[in-house]
Amino acid sequence: MKRKMCGRPLLSCLLAVLLCIGAAPAQAAETPASEKSGAVNWVETVDEGILQEPVDIPILMYHNLVAEEDDPSISKNTMWVGQFQHQMELLEENGFTTITVDQLVEFGNRGKALPEKPVLITFDDGYRSAYELAFPILQEMDFHAAMFPIGVSVGKDTYKDTGLAMVPHFSWEEAKEMAESGLVSIQSHTYDMHQWEAFETAGGGQCLRPNILRQPWETLGEYMQALREDVERSRQDIVEGTGQEAVALAYPGGLHDQISEELLRSYGVKCTFTIEGGKAQVTPGSERSLYGLNRFYVKPTTTDEEFLQWVG
Ligand SMILES: [Zn+2]
Repeated sequence: MKRKMCGRPLLSCLLAVLLCIGAAPAQAAETPASEKSGAVNWVETVDEGILQEPVDIPILMYHNLVAEEDDPSISKNTMWVGQFQHQMELLEENGFTTITVDQLVEFGNRGKALPEKPVLITFDDGYRSAYELAFPILQEMDFHAAMFPIGVSVGKDTYKDTGLAMVPHFSWEEAKEMAESGLVSIQSHTYDMHQWEAFETAGGGQCLRPNILRQPWETLGEYMQALREDVERSRQDIVEGTGQEAVALAYPGGLHDQISEELLRSYGVKCTFTIEGGKAQVTPGSERSLYGLNRFYVKPTTTDEEFLQWVG
């Protein structure tokens, strides 16, 4: 019955569409697109340089560092500081310029030029080693980096719900010192949407949030509220802790989807990072191209050859 009722209007609709398609060229010929109110002349826009070709930018991702080369905790996320220093020297010797997240955002939003051979250095999770071991090297070399601490872990060395030992994380005082140097910006890795099942038992394990995606136990409305609250808390803590605003977020575990990205955008996050390998592609003049940026996952197994190939 329903199908029968819908049949005729659908046919009329199709006819109307066909008529419109037929009429379109005649209309366009009468009025040039640029003279119509509100119309965009894309050719002119491109000629003016507002929208340009996408640019490939290497972004490096680090996590934890250790002081000794033979430290038994060296793993995919934990690297000897000597290797990190050597990689920074490779960047310098090969003429790379480290850029800030703000520069990247200005480039994506307004096409403001980046230096020659730009590279963005990032540190995830906010480990104290980023302050104790990486920061002195950045200072010595006058290099920029962005650090993405997990808000709830700042200044902690135990998990909040279980009290289990955790790799120490830098404090807000240390974060502030780094931010005030002008070399490091503190960005978001969420306030508390980066939980590890083996160490945390939030809500008896049922409400564990390992990433920013909507979890199976919540409605869309609950999810939207939770993500908004987390983003706001994270941003507020960073402003209060460092005196500087965060504009970017690194996805925990790199996980994201269309809805999470749309929501973050609407909550004012201007730039997001994944853990997908490959160069980030940013289109000057396209603020949307600043979301879901690729990063190279630097590990102890990363060879010099591979490293130079990534950034080159
Ligand atoms: Zn992380």
